[in-house]
Amino acid sequence: MKEKLISLSQQNKNNRFLKNKIELRCKCGYCESITYYDYLTSGEFNIGEPTTTISPFISEAVYDETISVTPLSSSKKCPACGKEIIAVFPLSLEELIPLLQSRPPDPHMYG
Ligand SMILES: [Zn+2]
Repeated sequence: MKEKLISLSQQNKNNRFLKNKIELRCKCGYCESITYYDYLTSGEFNIGEPTTTISPFISEAVYDETISVTPLSSSKKCPACGKEIIAVFPLSLEELIPLLQSRPPDPHMYG
């Protein structure tokens, strides 16, 4: 699954979504921001255990609608103090995959 995510991200190199930035902030005050693209293609993230949660789209007639949520997180050593910085990706695997699988605009349109 991790390899799939990395290759999907590489295929989406020009996807504007992947140009969003994620902030790695250490308790010592060190702060670094990397793009979603760098985060995902570095391969230095871990796929967490899926958990189920109540769907936010639940209707009043349904009481047991649950969805699966798999968190992504990465850890890296702070270059300033050497402690570990944990960066949790803002989207779950389930939200991310469809975004990466949606077809980008036809490249021929841009020459
Ligand atoms: Zn630090």
